[in-house]
Amino acid sequence: MVIIVRMPTVQDFIADWILPISEPPIRHGLIRMAGARIVEIRESRSGDKGIRLPQHAMIVPGFVNAHTHLEFSHLREPLGQRGLGMSAWIREVLRERARKAEIGEEVESRRRAISRGLDESERHGVALLADISVAPWDLAPYRESPLTSVPLLEQLGMREDMIESRQQELWSTWERITGTKRGEQVGLSPHAPYSLHPRLFESIMSLAIQEDALVAMHLAESREEIQFLETGHGPFREFLTELNLFDPAQRLCSIDYCLDWLSRARRSLIIHGNYLQPKQLDWISSFPEMSIVYCPRTHDYFGHEDYPLLEMLARGIHVAIGTDSRASNPDLDLLAELRMVAAKFPELSAATILEMGTVMGAEALGLGHRFGALRVGETPGVLVMELTDPLGDDPAAALLHGRVKSRYWLDRT
Ligand SMILES: [Zn+2]
Repeated sequence: MVIIVRMPTVQDFIADWILPISEPPIRHGLIRMAGARIVEIRESRSGDKGIRLPQHAMIVPGFVNAHTHLEFSHLREPLGQRGLGMSAWIREVLRERARKAEIGEEVESRRRAISRGLDESERHGVALLADISVAPWDLAPYRESPLTSVPLLEQLGMREDMIESRQQELWSTWERITGTKRGEQVGLSPHAPYSLHPRLFESIMSLAIQEDALVAMHLAESREEIQFLETGHGPFREFLTELNLFDPAQRLCSIDYCLDWLSRARRSLIIHGNYLQPKQLDWISSFPEMSIVYCPRTHDYFGHEDYPLLEMLARGIHVAIGTDSRASNPDLDLLAELRMVAAKFPELSAATILEMGTVMGAEALGLGHRFGALRVGETPGVLVMELTDPLGDDPAAALLHGRVKSRYWLDRT
């Protein structure tokens, strides 16, 4: 009997620069690929044969988008207008969901929007993303996409009489998903402290801890949220009362209480954290498994106070980057987020900013061994960024400031 083993074609690519991220940049670099697998990365030598990428092209790992809600990827522009308050914006989100429900398209149109968002992300050079997924959870679009995603099953419920049914809904879905697809990356997302009864929050966290699941929670996002949690008053109270979701006798989830629970998960993402206090940042810095996700253009859209990014980085806190959704952002371009970081924080090196959009994001999601850096072995997402102008001596800076001519994947056909 003859066994034919088909070896993937080995191909060398030579570029002006290769940025492995985990190693220093390589000028005139060569990367040897066997199909989708990286065999070697090194400086190119005279006599090397291979495909010479166009001038001004660099090879980088695909970006990591650590926070989005792809269900809104059909939107042409953000909801509401710049600078509106958080509770006013959530009203817009609910109106948009109600509009879809009214035309009887809720599930189908959500599925289409998620697929569209995955396609858009891939076109923007995103190799890995974490997406908040709402009930009834449908994982089909993620499984059909070549892009790797970590769906995070979101649950919320403020009233006491909602706790049991919301728990059951989440539990049975979790069992169905993890029961049939062992090893699949799926996480949990207790939505936010202003939308969760403490008992429902605790039960979601208990499930996450028991299952070793990644957790993501919106936290300290707006001044309105802080006001509501600390005093029980303000626009959030009015909004929740209007929806018949607020009981004045009810205990609220404080930020510290949420942080304490999040610190017990195997890995957790604090989404936004715009108004975390120095003491809270000190505390977070003692838990390496906790990361904060900064969404620069969404932060800018709402006109929040200056983001405490330097304070976070100075404490050694892991900061990943997210686009958030098209409900608060014009597109899902992670590089545009990194450019916003560069514009707002000129004191940060381009290399640090690029790390936040790649390796830090991958580590935040617990997938740092596969994503966020170019290394020998299976590294899905080998991206070529071709600029219009010379890359100079600092290719990371060129990427953050230069004009992009094209972007494409080396490991995908
Ligand atoms: Zn969000």
